[in-house]
Amino acid sequence: MFCPHCGARAEDGAAVCPACGQALTPAAPPAETAPPVEATPDASAVKDYLTVNIVLLALSVCCCGSLPAVVTGIIGVIFSSQTRDLLRFGRSDEAARKSRAARNLAIATGVILGVTALIALAFVALYGTVIAAMFASLS
Ligand SMILES: [Zn+2]
Repeated sequence: MFCPHCGARAEDGAAVCPACGQALTPAAPPAETAPPVEATPDASAVKDYLTVNIVLLALSVCCCGSLPAVVTGIIGVIFSSQTRDLLRFGRSDEAARKSRAARNLAIATGVILGVTALIALAFVALYGTVIAAMFASLS
């Protein structure tokens, strides 16, 4: 170690500096690095995803009739409106958590809708003519 007063080299753990005689304080242990505190998100940066969740829910109900998408769509709308309320009350950190959930639910609803639509398209492509023939024979 080096003396903080005169800069002379001193024995590690020496109580006084051999050059200037000043008391040497042991080097302070490195400060414990505090766990990174999640910065309070800026309220204006938190999105509620309400519109996208409502649109996805409407699509789930009206177009596909896909029950899983309706379920995730409803939960997504609930999380979105909770996000909006929390933002209104200025609780932006809680709002950010709800916002992430709302976004993930919107993604889930979108994926389920997409898969359902693909299955429906494939079904129509494969069996469309068969079904049409069935209806034709019924009438
Ligand atoms: Zn010294």
